[in-house]
Amino acid sequence: MIRVGVFGAAGRMGATVCGAVDADPDLELVAAVDPFHAGETVSGVEVAREPRAMADAGAEVVVDFTVADAARNNICWAALHGVHAVVGTTGFTDEDYALFRDEFSRSNCIIAPNFAVGAVLMMRFAELAAPFFDSAEIIELHHANKRDAPSGTAMMTATRMAAASGDWSPDPTEQEVVAGARGGEGPGGIHVHAVRLRGLVAHQEVVLGTTGQSLTIRHDSYDRFSFMPGVLLAVKRVAEVPGLTVGLDDVLGL
Ligand code: NAP
Repeated sequence: MIRVGVFGAAGRMGATVCGAVDADPDLELVAAVDPFHAGETVSGVEVAREPRAMADAGAEVVVDFTVADAARNNICWAALHGVHAVVGTTGFTDEDYALFRDEFSRSNCIIAPNFAVGAVLMMRFAELAAPFFDSAEIIELHHANKRDAPSGTAMMTATRMAAASGDWSPDPTEQEVVAGARGGEGPGGIHVHAVRLRGLVAHQEVVLGTTGQSLTIRHDSYDRFSFMPGVLLAVKRVAEVPGLTVGLDDVLGL
């Protein structure tokens, strides 16, 4: 049994993770931390205010689904205490990743902007397709309460496509009638559009074009359970992958 603690336990994702951990025969939910929800109960565990509840309960792996500002502290706390971390929170910068890479020497950390296996495959397919097309745009669509834009998945997709091909056509736009009409310019100059709508969960389309043809790669998460197999797999495997791992590809053997 792996002893697991969850940061952001009262949040939408955190509470779903608590339930999934609790239901897995190989895992034990031993601690839940969420400063603004202390005293509430999630999957039979009382929510604590401070990270030290993780250490007090003997957590071997902590899972973080909070906000980037809180997650930075929680991740560094895990590194300092030699506890493995599995992180789904999005909104980190390159500097954050560099810091986490330095911090994890006694324990390991897996950060994945998307734990849905289909989304991991979408990113891999987009990376494979990139060298065969002249232009590409990413449209990510999320629920109306998402705080960061564009999504971590969109940024990681653009980063990987830009690394796979540096040969993209320049943007032909000469006049932007409405500011932002062409979306944000992501890595490699790949344009990223963020849609926020009530009723959505997490969706993304990667559209690639070249002479006379286009390819659309689309992934849809219809509910938060779509992320759980990836999260549970990372929790079970994090002890085996040294240092910082970004993305689930290695864990899935892609
Ligand atoms: P949410 O419902 O707002 O949950 C975040 C929770 O963290 C809230 O309960 C929040 O409390 C709490 N929190 C804030 N500061 C904290 C701290 N210092 N320690 C512990 N808990 C703290 O958001 P969500 O929809 O669950 O999403 C959480 C994160 O996961 C976002 O970054 C989102 O982009 C990401 N996400 C990732 C994936 C993936 O597959 N990687 C999938 C979905 C979502 P308050 O509400 O009181 O502020």
